[in-house]
Amino acid sequence: MTSPTDILDHRHCPRRYWLQRYQPDPGLEARANQRRMQDAQLAAVLRGLHPGGRRIEGDDIQHILDDTYRALRRKPRPLYQAAFAHRHLLVRADLLLPGLFGYTLIMATTASRIRKAQVKAAAIQAWVIAQADVLLDRIVIAHINDGFRFLNRTDQRVFAGGGEEAFCPGEGVYAGLLAHVDVTRQVRKRLPRVAEWLNAVHTTLAGDEPISAPGRQCNQPDPCPFLSRCQPEISNHPAITPNPVELGEASYPRYYLHIQTTQSLVPTVLGTGPRCHFPFLWSCRIEEADGSQHHTAFLTQDNTFPTREFADTLLETLEPPGPILVEDRDFVHYRLLDLGILMSDLFPRIEALIPRLVGLGQTTDARPVDKLELPETYSARAGFAEYIDPKTPADRCQALRRSLLEQGEREGLRLVELAKGR
Ligand code: SF4
Repeated sequence: MTSPTDILDHRHCPRRYWLQRYQPDPGLEARANQRRMQDAQLAAVLRGLHPGGRRIEGDDIQHILDDTYRALRRKPRPLYQAAFAHRHLLVRADLLLPGLFGYTLIMATTASRIRKAQVKAAAIQAWVIAQADVLLDRIVIAHINDGFRFLNRTDQRVFAGGGEEAFCPGEGVYAGLLAHVDVTRQVRKRLPRVAEWLNAVHTTLAGDEPISAPGRQCNQPDPCPFLSRCQPEISNHPAITPNPVELGEASYPRYYLHIQTTQSLVPTVLGTGPRCHFPFLWSCRIEEADGSQHHTAFLTQDNTFPTREFADTLLETLEPPGPILVEDRDFVHYRLLDLGILMSDLFPRIEALIPRLVGLGQTTDARPVDKLELPETYSARAGFAEYIDPKTPADRCQALRRSLLEQGEREGLRLVELAKGR
């Protein structure tokens, strides 16, 4: 089956799409998992905002198609995740709202504003739905409103990071998180081209590796994982540039600090907005004047971010004076400020750490947690999401905890090497 994402990926770069299908890069599955998790959060929010409907569930394609068909023939009511297929193109409609002149299709997106790709995705959905003789009166894109602030916890269970089952937004709690924009006119203009886009995907898949000239698409919206294949002179993973730091004899102890954060698309902490970073692990290697080093760390135990214990232990470790060496100064600066804003009584103490930060140079994110315990492509965020998921067995949790802490310790050692220019 082909999905709307396939068509959009193909339109972005046929070669990248072909390579992803036949020679998947190792990070692909991890990125797809993260996207699925965010989609599940958005779907839950949408159901909370438009309650009282029927949800089409399951993975078996024939089952969800049949279920949708039956639901459409009953008394009209909102339908979540209705499934439609035409010419091996399968779409799931986030929400179909019945109205006097037909249904309103609402497509939710994690983007903060509507781009051409989202309008095309809505056109693909509308085209397939139209083949099933379902009358669409309006097409709406619901995108994330970055100005939203989560102010009400009523009827809200804390997001566990493991998927929608642990995430039950109460009705109205997230009113304003999604901005609804009518794109009916733009979508109708694109409908006649969908069949042509689909044909192009099928032609590419049936052929050999296509040739695509490198261009702007190689770095937008993110660097293509096949960059080094198309442009061998460019590496995808820039090497760490050693940046020896002159700190003088007196500047001990030195704190090599690594903070690992996770990001939730849907805010669950009062006063925060979408896409806030929440620190879950800090790890610090401390170097004394005599050259001796020791390591200390804290890993959040559950899904309440950030914990008081996180901030208390961090302050306890870092308050004795000395430079705090970090990879990306701005990143740590803003994470400390976030922490201080959320725990206002600690703000002066947290703020006092900021002038002591020394940046060593930014490198690529999402390094593997541990090759023994986790797949190579598993990022620390994905590892943490699994660690706090109530469905994860206890022995797996132990292994993940060990891996996350070991990764933090390795980060500290890496920072020491980075500071010394090795
Ligand atoms: S590097 Fe550019 S041309 Fe090559 S596959 Fe990626 S996006 Fe396409």
